[in-house]
Amino acid sequence: MISEEVMQLVDKGVMLPLMEEFYTIQGEGYHKGTAAYFIRIGGCDVGCHWCDVKESWNAGTHPPTDIESIATNAAKYSDTIVVTGGEPLTWDMGPLTDSLKAKNLKTHIETSGAYALSGDWDWICLSPKKNKLPVPEIYPLADELKVIVYNKHDFIFAEEQAAQVGPNCILYLQPEWSVRDKMVPLIVDFVMQNPKWKVSLQTHKYLNIP
Ligand code: SF4
Repeated sequence: MISEEVMQLVDKGVMLPLMEEFYTIQGEGYHKGTAAYFIRIGGCDVGCHWCDVKESWNAGTHPPTDIESIATNAAKYSDTIVVTGGEPLTWDMGPLTDSLKAKNLKTHIETSGAYALSGDWDWICLSPKKNKLPVPEIYPLADELKVIVYNKHDFIFAEEQAAQVGPNCILYLQPEWSVRDKMVPLIVDFVMQNPKWKVSLQTHKYLNIP
C-alpha cells in the first residue's frame, strides 16, 4: 500500500513509478545505434492492443522512486538518457529532466503525446496512437514522428499525423514487431513512393538486446 505522502510526491514528479532502467543501444528512429541509458516509467492508459510492454500499464505495480536517485544512477552509464514507458507524460517530467540536465545529460523522450508535455527535452520522439491521439500542442515540438504500422490503414493514419508536425520533423514508419514479415514489404513500397518517410526497424530486437 503506497502512502498518501508518497502519492503526492509522485503527483509532483519528485518520485516516479520506475519499471526498469538499463544501458543499451537505442534501436529505433533517428538515434538508432547510439548507446543510451533507458528509464522506463510505469503507467499508461492508451491501451494499444499490440503493446509489447503491457506490464508497464499499471503504475501501482512499479515502485515510486526518488528522481534524484534515478538521475544519479543514469549519469554513471551514459550522457544520453531516453525516458520511455508506459506513457511518461502521465506524470510531471519537469523534476526528472531538471535533475538530468543539472548533470549535463541529454534528455530524450518517447511518447504517444496523449498528455500535455512536461519536462525539458533535447529530443522528442512522438509516436501517436489511434486510441488516444496526441494533444495538439506537441506536434510542432516533435523532432521525429514514429508511426507504428500494424495494418494498411496505418499508412493513412501516418499521413494524417505527418500533416500536423513541423517541417523539420523526421518521419518514420516502423513495423509492429509481431506482423513485421507482412508489413515490411508494404512499408518498403510506401517509402519508395513517398520518400519523405524513412523506415525504422526495432534493431535492438534483431540484436537480441533490451
Ligand atoms: S502508448 Fe505505448 S506503452 Fe501505452 S499501450 Fe501504447 S504501445 Fe503500450
